[in-house]
Amino acid sequence: MCPSPSTGKQDALAFLADELERLKEAGLYNVIRVLEGPQGPWVRIEGRQVLNLCSNNYLGLANHPKLRQAACEAVERFGVGPGAVRSIAGTMSLHQDLERRLAAFKGTEATVVFQSGFKANLAVIPALVGKDDVIYSDELNHASIIDGCRLSRAPIRVYPHCDPQGLAALLEEDRDRPGRKLVITDGVFSMDGDIAPLPELADLAAAHGAILMVDDAHGEGVLGSHGRGVVDHFGLHGRVHVEVGTLSKALGVMGGFVAGSAALVEYLKQRGRPFIFSSALTPADVAANLAAVELLAADDSLVRRLWDNARYFKTRLRELGFDTGRSQTPITPVMIGEAERASAFSRRLFEAGVFAQAIGFPTVPRGKARIRAMISAGHSRADLDFALDVFDQVGRAMHLI
Ligand SMILES: *Cc1c(COP(=O)(O)O)cnc(C)c1O
Repeated sequence: MCPSPSTGKQDALAFLADELERLKEAGLYNVIRVLEGPQGPWVRIEGRQVLNLCSNNYLGLANHPKLRQAACEAVERFGVGPGAVRSIAGTMSLHQDLERRLAAFKGTEATVVFQSGFKANLAVIPALVGKDDVIYSDELNHASIIDGCRLSRAPIRVYPHCDPQGLAALLEEDRDRPGRKLVITDGVFSMDGDIAPLPELADLAAAHGAILMVDDAHGEGVLGSHGRGVVDHFGLHGRVHVEVGTLSKALGVMGGFVAGSAALVEYLKQRGRPFIFSSALTPADVAANLAAVELLAADDSLVRRLWDNARYFKTRLRELGFDTGRSQTPITPVMIGEAERASAFSRRLFEAGVFAQAIGFPTVPRGKARIRAMISAGHSRADLDFALDVFDQVGRAMHLI
């Protein structure tokens, strides 16, 4: 008989309670809010409506009638589950429709979709490099890139944030190094909202024969014409080998993808481990994603609205005296410093009806805690004015401005 873990004298998991206590003391314990209804500019939490400045639902598509309808119809026609991994019996005609439509939208030869952006990174990085190769990674790259790099077993050389000269120095040192070279950057950095210097990175990658990969999770649906992403934003079509994107943020649904050459996509379908070993995206997700891509391709008004809102909100915040860091996109950090202060600020905003999460270590470096305000096309001007008023009041009360 198995001994009950709870009656054992020494609980092997006792360290967890200590660790949790430490997180709470350091102001790093994340209180997980629960939404009692759909995503939107306002959300219901603990029985009341609060203004939502936390979600990545940039275009308000997460609860869009067209996407909901597409999901419902797909459930009627294809059921709820994929029943298998993509490489065995989980590829439905719906997946192919989405992949073709997405390739046309992105302007690449092909795309392959994964269950999430996180999994897209875990698929593509280990498929491209191994222990005899080398990865060059921006110091602020997303956790899923870091995990994908670690899984590949390739040595990782971290270059200073958005610093092409720093990258150039590393590539120069490795000029005679054998093996493949892979340069990886976020397109838009998720905690600061700044944009990678992709044209310079593309020049360097070309000069050194390196593969260039961009993870554009926060650029898809946001940057470029109709939200085609960072490569389109810089007009770099054909110069970035691997574009990773997510369908879970601006596109409002769930999933990730890799866009690039036909050979890249074909190879990932043979060797991308999340494609081979984890079940396919569900019919409802795929159909809703397809509706989202079609909606974006046909009409860029939501993207324009998003940028109008972001510019307005950021300008007004700066006028109030807040430091919004180096943001160039709708991701609006409000720099606070110590994690405890940032979480106190977030709590007071919430009490006043504004839901804006504090972000601390390890998501951002120690001492750089912040509030991250996410602007959406779904916010009205009155919503933004309400948020600005509350930021002003709480900021003054806490002597931040
Ligand atoms: C959010 C994010 C991901 C993960 O995407 P999911 O679809 O939510 O798994 C990957 N990379 C970056 C840069 C992100 O910001």
